[in-house]
Amino acid sequence: MKNLYDLTLEELEQYFERKNSKKFHALQLFTFLYEKRIKSLQEVTTIKKDLLEEIKKDFSFSKIKLVMAEKDKDVSKYLFELSDKEHIEAVLMRHNYGLSVCISSQVGCNMGCLFCESGRRKKVRNLEVYEMVQQILLIEEETGERISNVVVMGIGEPFDNYDNLLKFLTIINHPKGLAIGARHITVSTCGLVPKILEFSDFPLQINLAISLHSPNDAIRNKIMPISKVYPLEKLMDAIRIYLKKTNRRVTFEYILLKDINDSDECALELAKLVKDINAYINLIPYNETNNLLFMRSSTVQIMRFYDILKKNGINVTIRREFGGKISAACGQLRSKKEEL
Ligand code: SAH
Repeated sequence: MKNLYDLTLEELEQYFERKNSKKFHALQLFTFLYEKRIKSLQEVTTIKKDLLEEIKKDFSFSKIKLVMAEKDKDVSKYLFELSDKEHIEAVLMRHNYGLSVCISSQVGCNMGCLFCESGRRKKVRNLEVYEMVQQILLIEEETGERISNVVVMGIGEPFDNYDNLLKFLTIINHPKGLAIGARHITVSTCGLVPKILEFSDFPLQINLAISLHSPNDAIRNKIMPISKVYPLEKLMDAIRIYLKKTNRRVTFEYILLKDINDSDECALELAKLVKDINAYINLIPYNETNNLLFMRSSTVQIMRFYDILKKNGINVTIRREFGGKISAACGQLRSKKEEL
C-alpha cells in the first residue's frame, strides 16, 4: 500500500479523479500534509468523513521513526528507523545561508566505492518516496526550523532509485509541498551514465554533482567499480550532453586520498579533464574511517592540489568539514550503531 507522502500533487489529483471525486481535494490534502503538518488524518477538516475514510483505506499514513540524534555546534546527525527495522541516516548542517540537510536514498548501496562506509553494506532496498520526504519533515519538526537546502548525498546511489528520486524532488520543490527551490537542491551520483542523460530532460533546475574522485580510469577503476561499466570518456560525454541541454553547471566532487589520487600530476590531469566544461570542483578532505586502506591527504598536499587547479583556471573550493567528531560522514553513524 502506498503512503500518502509517496504522492506528488498530480498523482493525488489523479486519485481523486479516479474516485469520481473533486480534483481540488488533492490540493486540500497536500496543504494539510505539508503546510499544516498534520499528525493524524482526523485533522483534515475540509474533506467529508466518508471520503476521508476511503483515503485511510487506500493509503498508509505511517511515519519513519527518529531514533537517535547526535548534535554538535553546526551539525546534527539523525538516525531513522524504517517500518522494516532498517536504519538510514541524515545530516543537518548549519551554514550562513541557512540549514542544509543531506538525505539517504537507499538502504545500503551497490556501487561498492572502496573508500565509502555506506557501500560496506550491499543495497537492501530502495527508499520509498515517503521515506525520503519524511527525513526532511522530521528534521524540521525536531529543530522547529525550515530547511533551505537539500543534498541527496547520504547512503545510497540516488540514480539507482531514479523514479522515486524524481517524485521526491517534485514534492519537495512544489510550492505547496516543501517549496524548496530547485537551485537549492543537489543530487549526487557516482556516474550512472544513462540516468545522467535522462536527468537532462527533467524540467526542474536541480543541481547535479558527480563523484569523480580520479582524473583517469586507471585510478578510478581501482576505487570506484562503476568506472568499469561507465569509463571516464563515456561519463564526460554524458555530462557534456547534460550541460548542453540544460545550460546548467555541474559540480565534481573529488575526495583527496593520500598517495592514491592526490599527486601534483593528478591535479594537472584533472585540470585538463574538466577544462572545457562548465563545472566547479569541490575538493573533499577524506574523512578517515576504520577502513585502513585509505588515509587523508596532508593539509599541505590538499593546498598544493588546490593551487594547481586554481593556476590552471579551474573553479575550485575545498569542502568545509562538518561532523568529523560525531561520525557524520557517509554511513558512519549506521555503521557505528551496528558495531554497538
Ligand atoms: N552515491 C552518490 C551519493 C552518496 S556519496 C555518490 O556517489 O555521489 C556522497 C559523497 O560522499 C560522494 O562524493 C562520496 O564519494 C563521498 N564520501 C564517501 N565516503 C567519504 C568519506 N569517508 N570522506 C569524505 N567523503 C566521502
